[in-house]
Amino acid sequence: MHALVKEFAEPFVSHRFDNRFARLPPAFYRRVQPTPLANPYLVSVSEDAAALLDLDAATCRSEKFLDLLAGNWLPPGAEPLAMLYAGHQFGTFVPQLGDGRAILLGEILNQCGERWQLQLKGAGLTPFSRTADGRAVLRSTVREYLCSEAMHALGVPTTRALGMAGADEPVYRETPETAAVVMRIAPSFVRFGSFEVFYARREHERLRQLADHVIEEHYPQCAGGPQAYEKFLIEVIERTACLIAHWQVVGFCHGVMNTDNMSILGLTLDYGPFGFMEAFNPGHICNHSDDQGRYSYDNQPYIGLWNCSRLAQALTPLVDAEKCNAALARYEGVYLTAYAAHMRAKMGLAQAMDGDDALANDLLALLAEYGTDYTIFFRALSTFDLSGNNATLRDLMVNREAFDRWTVRYAARLNAENSFAAERRLRMNRVNPKYVLRNHLAQVAIEKSSKNKDFSEIDRLLAVLRRPFDEQPEFDSYAEPPPDWAKDIAVSCSS
Ligand code: AMP
Ligand code: MG
Repeated sequence: MHALVKEFAEPFVSHRFDNRFARLPPAFYRRVQPTPLANPYLVSVSEDAAALLDLDAATCRSEKFLDLLAGNWLPPGAEPLAMLYAGHQFGTFVPQLGDGRAILLGEILNQCGERWQLQLKGAGLTPFSRTADGRAVLRSTVREYLCSEAMHALGVPTTRALGMAGADEPVYRETPETAAVVMRIAPSFVRFGSFEVFYARREHERLRQLADHVIEEHYPQCAGGPQAYEKFLIEVIERTACLIAHWQVVGFCHGVMNTDNMSILGLTLDYGPFGFMEAFNPGHICNHSDDQGRYSYDNQPYIGLWNCSRLAQALTPLVDAEKCNAALARYEGVYLTAYAAHMRAKMGLAQAMDGDDALANDLLALLAEYGTDYTIFFRALSTFDLSGNNATLRDLMVNREAFDRWTVRYAARLNAENSFAAERRLRMNRVNPKYVLRNHLAQVAIEKSSKNKDFSEIDRLLAVLRRPFDEQPEFDSYAEPPPDWAKDIAVSCSS
């Protein structure tokens, strides 16, 4: 467990809170205080995220900071609230969801003039908790905390995680577990569902107010003029397409792409039963609760578009339907362009040439044939030797003859742009991570934490995953394929 320091100054006392979301009319949220968590302990702090808020290491080890994470103390200037939203869950519209366990504390300005919203997840009941308990369990909180920071280090847009607190308070899921709270930070937590709720209620003036707020705060380039809402919709659609292209190429499966989990800023939001692709399988379903595979890996790009369509529909009182359709029509091209650029980079191709898509797709088909580990293969591809000395790479494949045929094409393609091995390798190692948050790695950290309150593995993983592209030979074992026992890990909507 982490030792805490008593004397240090309170976090955020010298910061300015400027809670613009809380200035919106009460129709957009309900004011609510976090429920205190008895006898909390500090689980982990992300110093990278803390730096975004100008918090130093000493402050993050103070008792006040732990009280902040636990929801037991509010910094002066905080105005806690739960946000209202609706959402399409597994395709079905739910007219009212809202933050059932997340509480927005407010927005602070950092020294660079950036605005960050602070949100506790798992901080107790809100007016939107419905029949649930307002809490989050340690298991799912560790996963969200680690993955937020890991995704950021991979270069994927995401909400961040400042730190997390745990407590012995029991929380009942399939079995009794214990409570934890994570402090998430992001420029905004507005979701597609935040718009859907007012469309469904035919409260078009509210819809406009929310759009105006989001445009003013986060899309100032779209503001002004009669096309503001249309431009805004186009940007959200494009950001979403780029986000999902990025997920696909790092092998990230979100697991619950409901429209209430879609960020209006194109960030990865609400980490639940996510997973990283290991044995490559395009139909991979990471969420045990997703019986139909609606959110399988290869469906993610289509679901991204479907979700954008729900947002566009919600905006029809502000943007005429034809323009909405035109905006949606851009999704596919933006997605394909972004995806192709990422795949070229993964293959170490510096220029774009005809046939690159087929080269990538044929490679993926080979990986899929016998379930080659996605991350390990692409990391190893940087060692490709044009003179044909590729035994290590070949050993990753089962159908080696088919792979040999592919390497002939790959070698010709590299030669076509006079690719230089050492330079290519450096470039590839900056886009093909060695380390991703594999389920079994998270599981080890969770078990040590829940059995012994030993949080050292969380900190170790955080340290490894903040440099996913660096070799870090002392952590080679973290880059290995999952052990046999990992087959029994089932991640579901239970969190
Ligand atoms: P999720 O599937 O985690 O995105 O959550 C969907 C909805 O259920 C959101 O409105 C959440 O706030 C709410 N929710 C999930 N778990 C809980 C919980 N334990 N207590 C209260 N609300 C919850
Ligand atoms: Mg959610």
